[in-house]
Amino acid sequence: MPARTGAAFLRGLKDGREIWAGSEKVSDVAAHPAFAGAAQGVAGVFDLQLAHPQECLMSDPETGEPISVSHLIPRSRDDLARRHACLERIAEYTVGVMGRSPDYMNVTYAGFAGRCDEWGANGNEAGAENLVNYQKFLRRNDISLTHALLHPIVDKGLGEFIDPGNDVALHKVGETAHGIIVRGARVLATLAPFADELAVYPGYPLKPGCEDYALSFCIPMATPGLKFLCRDTFSQSGSARDFPLSARFDEQDAFVIFDDVEVPRDRLHINGNLAVYNQVMIRSWWPNVMQQTMIRAQTKLEFAWGLASKMAEAVNGVQPAAAQMLGEIWTFAEFTRSCVQKAEANAHEYGNGVWLPEGAPLYALRATLPSWFPRVNEIIRQLGSHNLFAAPTQAMLEDSGLRPLIDRYLRGAGDLTAEARSRIFRLAWDFAGSALASRNEQYERFYLASGPRNLQFCHMLADRSRADRLVDRFLTEE
Ligand SMILES: Cc1cc2nc3c(=O)[nH]c(=O)nc-3n(C[C@H](O)[C@H](O)[C@H](O)COP(=O)(O)OP(=O)(O)OC[C@H]3O[C@@H](n4cnc5c(N)ncnc54)[C@H](O)[C@@H]3O)c2cc1C
Repeated sequence: MPARTGAAFLRGLKDGREIWAGSEKVSDVAAHPAFAGAAQGVAGVFDLQLAHPQECLMSDPETGEPISVSHLIPRSRDDLARRHACLERIAEYTVGVMGRSPDYMNVTYAGFAGRCDEWGANGNEAGAENLVNYQKFLRRNDISLTHALLHPIVDKGLGEFIDPGNDVALHKVGETAHGIIVRGARVLATLAPFADELAVYPGYPLKPGCEDYALSFCIPMATPGLKFLCRDTFSQSGSARDFPLSARFDEQDAFVIFDDVEVPRDRLHINGNLAVYNQVMIRSWWPNVMQQTMIRAQTKLEFAWGLASKMAEAVNGVQPAAAQMLGEIWTFAEFTRSCVQKAEANAHEYGNGVWLPEGAPLYALRATLPSWFPRVNEIIRQLGSHNLFAAPTQAMLEDSGLRPLIDRYLRGAGDLTAEARSRIFRLAWDFAGSALASRNEQYERFYLASGPRNLQFCHMLADRSRADRLVDRFLTEE
């Protein structure tokens, strides 16, 4: 089956999955007020790829059918450039507000399948074969995939790593004729209501003796025993004119419970193989997936710069203090663009013929962006002040009695109309101040490990040879 339309994607969501939201179990995600807007938003990603085949579609290497370029296993620098164009097009559609549009997981599984040599090490040949077959299924059926990596934390005092016998973390509890039974929970599945399938793959490493926790697999969302507890919705069911982002881009986040779930044998990619579980995420995963995440981040930062500039200009507020803050956002966008370019220019083979960007610039970004994004929101709120709340809704603008008054009292500087001004400030609040904006800030802080933890990784993993040489000269001279 070739790349799907948005309508086909929406039809697939009605599959009996167990999604809990607020006070109810939701039977039809695409029709429910908490999810309908974002369901349309994700459907838009599917339609987008069909509308831009040049950038977003390629032929499946075996069937020849058109599939998303986000499934491409990069085997050269040119492949990475091709993937960049597709990822950028998708990032522009959501202006980076959706972190987990389906391309994120497409890129992840293309990377895993490309490095099937790592997954097939230490006697895990069958798991690696299942994984390669799964990636073919994913790309040929244009599946929307969510994932949950981490064990829920019950007591941080017990340390970073789980011990054997932990009854909270996802683990195997039995075997059946067709596969295994798993029990436990994982955090946090962004996109869950809008996914067709759930992926489980390694998060933090596991200790010896934790073989039952060493699992990786993908199963349909409607698999019996799978339960998704969604956070409160931040979706706004009003018009996209009033809530340009909240009306369509609340991608949701869900806690996942596996209440004795059967995983078919052919969907198991790791089944108790601790060595493979602890190895497969180390080398290729980060630079692979961070091409997607940093193209998205760059797009979001450039959007933020444009939006903040329009806010300032709307009230002729481009005085030095404002220009300074606008310049600050621009530097974030430009640093991000430069790091992505450097990473792609220095791309190299990582093994098994797979080409990925250089890791270091992307690690540096991942460690820094969790402080840049909150600063961007702070700047937008500083620049916006009360204007963010003096932004009439579409209904107010359409009221014939109110309209002349709004046109007079809420017009912008120069010839900016009241309606144009309102749309700028409503967009700005939705981006930097709304409930969705607050969730998005939390996402940017934590979506690939926290900023503090990434800073620690940067220090621990970086090549220090030149730094040491520069210092040692002074420490060793006679
Ligand atoms: C909105 C949102 C969406 C998410 N979506 C997904 C998803 O789709 N799939 C998925 O698998 N996961 C998802 N996550 C979970 C995400 O992967 C984790 O939140 C992230 O990895 C951070 O892990 P943590 O919560 O354990 O935080 P930690 O890394 O433990 O950080 C928490 C705090 O602990 C402190 N800290 C830093 N370093 C250390 C250290 N070495 N030891 C102890 N404490 C330290 C820091 O101050 C940090 O702020 C999502 C999270 C959020 C917030």
